[in-house]
Amino acid sequence: MSTLDELIAAERAVHMQVYGRQPVAFVRGQGCVLWDTAGQEYLDFLGGIAVMSVGHSHPRVVEAVREQVGLLTHVSNLFYTEPQVRLAERLHDLLGWGKVFFANSGAEANECALKLARRWARGTDDGARPGVVAALGSFHGRTFSTLAATGQPGKHDRFTPLPSWFTHVPLNDADALREAVGPGTSAVLLEVVQGEGGVRVASEEFLKTARAACDEFGAALVFDEVQTGLGRTGTWFGFQHAGVEPDIVTLAKALGAGLPIGACVAREEVAAAFGPGDHATTFGGGPVVCSAALAVLDVIESEGLVERSAALGALLVERLREATASNPHVREVRGLGLLVAVELDGPWAAAAVSAALGRRLVVNNVTPTAVRLAPPLVVSEEQIERAVEILAGVLADPEVRDG
Ligand SMILES: *Cc1c(COP(=O)(O)O)cnc(C)c1O
Repeated sequence: MSTLDELIAAERAVHMQVYGRQPVAFVRGQGCVLWDTAGQEYLDFLGGIAVMSVGHSHPRVVEAVREQVGLLTHVSNLFYTEPQVRLAERLHDLLGWGKVFFANSGAEANECALKLARRWARGTDDGARPGVVAALGSFHGRTFSTLAATGQPGKHDRFTPLPSWFTHVPLNDADALREAVGPGTSAVLLEVVQGEGGVRVASEEFLKTARAACDEFGAALVFDEVQTGLGRTGTWFGFQHAGVEPDIVTLAKALGAGLPIGACVAREEVAAAFGPGDHATTFGGGPVVCSAALAVLDVIESEGLVERSAALGALLVERLREATASNPHVREVRGLGLLVAVELDGPWAAAAVSAALGRRLVVNNVTPTAVRLAPPLVVSEEQIERAVEILAGVLADPEVRDG
């Protein structure tokens, strides 16, 4: 096996240089624990960016994948496979409505939602209704249209011209949202908690305004729950906190426990706007990822991980607040369920993350000033205490702050 230095050098030579990676190569994971090439143990409070909700190598997921991969891996969507149908049923039952399209990622799930909203809002009228309203600070993906939907101008600059049908309004500015939606709008696309934007919670008023504006103009309300869905925020879906129901919801990160899957679920009458040939994918909804996702949903249910996320998320926020209360360089600890961020008084989140990694705690600098924590939902109280102790120590260290 290569040393870490060899791996880093080889990666630089042959992989596109788009990632700012930490100098660690992981080889094994179990629950909330990771091991690197040197056999060192880490506490994982990032979970592969809110993906590993059931923990690394959960035995039920491992077993489901092993069994399915030995039975049938892929036949394409020209045929029926039982895991896909069963998974669609499960998502339908969790939401209480909807028809599903399976994609391979969050961005693709959002692409599906935007195409579907365009078809649906257009109806029988041939006048195009291309407008999509989204929030500043949002993140929806890296394809051209989901990049255009992403409310972070800094990510746009190098790729203009982008699709021009997106309007961005400040998060939680209900008046601006109301103003932006009109007869040319096909969709309002929102995260209920902005994940990549630094764990920023959308207010109930903002979401209710979006619902009302969509109803008034016949636009689709799309909630991008790629990061917040499936228990991450302490409810099955983040929108349940506000009691505002969307027309379309997109899912991805936690659904496949690391296997690539995305899902776009739309109300039946909206889903009916797609006809044969309107949308498709070669890999999406294959039997292996769908078997993994069925096992993930089983585990979330049988281990009570949604309730656990609510309870342990509250504990994590409370303990972080206590442990940083006397630190003037910590501005705020915020979160919903086990999606949490610590806001710092300056752009030293990257330094804090490196220092935490040196002390064997994995977190990430979601913005220059914020450290994000999104541990597996199976995290224990003892692991939370340990993570808080490490992170509070790092944040109190003047050498970390001053680089
Ligand atoms: C991660 C994320 C995406 C993009 O998902 P990919 O699988 O990387 O394409 C989209 N929306 C939200 C809210 C996300 O957190």
